[in-house]
Amino acid sequence: MAKINSLQEVLVEELRDIYDAEKRLTKAIPKLIKASTSDDLKEGLENHLTETEEQVSRLESAFEQLGETPRAKTCAGMKGLIEEGDEHSGEDYGDDSLRDAVIIGAAQRVEHYEMAAYGTAIAHAKLLGLDEVVTLLEETLQEEKAADEKLTEVAEGIVNPQALTGEEESEEAEGNSEMASAGSGSGSRSRMSASGGSSSRSGSSSRSGSGSRSRSKK
Ligand code: FE
Ligand code: FE
Ligand code: ZN
Repeated sequence: MAKINSLQEVLVEELRDIYDAEKRLTKAIPKLIKASTSDDLKEGLENHLTETEEQVSRLESAFEQLGETPRAKTCAGMKGLIEEGDEHSGEDYGDDSLRDAVIIGAAQRVEHYEMAAYGTAIAHAKLLGLDEVVTLLEETLQEEKAADEKLTEVAEGIVNPQALTGEEESEEAEGNSEMASAGSGSGSRSRMSASGGSSSRSGSSSRSGSGSRSRSKK
């Protein structure tokens, strides 16, 4: 007989994987908080750390509903995402806001991965008519979605406009030598979208001010 023979057993395997992922995150998020600079980012991550601890308990309730002992089974996906996040946030950045932008990117990959995992588990629990398990998992899925949206908000409102400053200045400095080539498109295109993205915010006009131009260009 095969090892896994029913959709309910598939669901239990999925929950073991997610349980491992969430437990890893309760250890990984504090490192991201330490590495981040923006107060909004720190606060967002701290809130989600609290939620993540609740999510671990919620999974334990789900196991209980299924008559299973909570057991984690290595989530290679989350392990990899956390390793990448550590690696990228540990790079040497000329400005703290650049690291913040990278941390947000890593955290959003995590949220999307979790959303996918919960989405599947919820679909399976629904098929099995496990309403209470569905309710538990839905509650967590909503938190993951909200965390993702919060990260987007932080990125758009605070981190990215700051992170863009250096790049835009070096593009301006580059202008003289590159004027002739009609193909300088990639640079100006990204600048357009950069200003488009922040145009709705009035406070960030200091971007165009005279910062240091010490940054070297590619
Ligand atoms: Fe989670
Ligand atoms: Fe996984
Ligand atoms: Zn999460």
